[in-house]
Amino acid sequence: MPNRVLKEIFGFESFRPGQEEVVRSVLEDRDTLAVMPTGGGKSLCYQVPALMRESLTVIVSPLISLMKDQVDSLIQAEVAGAAALNSGLSPEERWEVERRVRTGEIKMLYVAPERLRSLEFVLSLKRAGVGLFVVDEAHCVSEWGHDFRPDYLFLPRVVRDLGRPPVLALTATATPRVREDIVRSMRMQDPRVVVTSFDRPNLTYRVVEARKAKEKLPVLLDHIRRMQPPGIVYALSRKECEDLARGLRSFGVEAAPYHAGLSAEERARVQERFMTDELPVVVATVAFGMGVDKPNVRFVLHATVPASLPAYTQEAGRAGRDGEPSECVVVKRDADFGRRKRLISLSKTDEDAAVRLFDALVRLARDGRVNVPAATLAAAAGLDADATGVLLRALEEAGAIARGYDLWEAVE
Ligand code: ADP
Ligand code: MG
Repeated sequence: MPNRVLKEIFGFESFRPGQEEVVRSVLEDRDTLAVMPTGGGKSLCYQVPALMRESLTVIVSPLISLMKDQVDSLIQAEVAGAAALNSGLSPEERWEVERRVRTGEIKMLYVAPERLRSLEFVLSLKRAGVGLFVVDEAHCVSEWGHDFRPDYLFLPRVVRDLGRPPVLALTATATPRVREDIVRSMRMQDPRVVVTSFDRPNLTYRVVEARKAKEKLPVLLDHIRRMQPPGIVYALSRKECEDLARGLRSFGVEAAPYHAGLSAEERARVQERFMTDELPVVVATVAFGMGVDKPNVRFVLHATVPASLPAYTQEAGRAGRDGEPSECVVVKRDADFGRRKRLISLSKTDEDAAVRLFDALVRLARDGRVNVPAATLAAAAGLDADATGVLLRALEEAGAIARGYDLWEAVE
């Protein structure tokens, strides 16, 4: 029984919202799409059924660090039979994992999407007998998502070559359009769609105004001193990361920058130090994120307006995964809207839609019409929490947004 596995193997008393429904759907061999917030507990949705079955569960995960965290925490929980295959392994390590797959010792195999481009490898998995194919961070398959990965486009073919095992797609980012895209691109058959609430009651959201770029540092300092680190500061550009990290250090806050301009080793080191609580504050561009499953992040500060609502939800969602009170603050400066807009219009993914969305958000924000928690970036008008709640419910009732989340769709 799923409940027994949950208790005896993972030591949890009860399922979180949506988990049991997903587990049952998967155990009925149905294609399933699970949309749950970051930290909602998506991993258990496949780990529990994987352990209840004889066959192999293959989990596609976009980042090595994500896989490593998962496998490490399974090992820590003394859950046997999990392994990861990715480019971080030596050939010997890889052969050893592949051998254990063949002998059936491994029940859960985490793989990087590019690994599945090898038909030979896929066929070896097929021989081992894949009973469930899991696509984690499934929004990566959608060009509408904010994290599109070309390697994910091969996955439908992989599913076919594996003999069509049931597919479980999981994501925290799914506007209706991305949702449809996942179902369609993965060719999911009559899928069960489970969506849980995106309400994160332990997170508080705020917007603080900065009139000049120079005001950002004192505002950030003020918040960092009040809320105990560890925490993340998101900045717009590499330069802003460097400047803010330096500024924070000069006031005695140990902070390191993280952006795509650093070497891979440097980035890995910063992330590692942050994960192990050695480094209290990371000042990062959006490059920092997906692999960061750190439970005790006490604050996520945006030193600039976020790029989009879905992006903001993900970034702010890294706070408070342990359920403890945590703060999400956007430091808003009007001029940053313009800078952000220029950056967005340079990005490749559907420029027009991005700019339209952005315009709509700014307009809504300026009109004071939207200030749902997830839309904090749009909170230029500075509505208070009560007004926000009333507005959110009204929008929901009017069908303009679902669960405070589908604003993307509402403004398109
Ligand atoms: P997601 O992938 O949705 O972001 P995770 O699967 O990483 O979330 O889970 C987040 C945290 O919640 C993990 O530390 C996990 O152990 C914990 N968790 C998941 N399900 C439960 C549960 N039913 N009871 C208690 N803790 C849980
Ligand atoms: Mg996850």
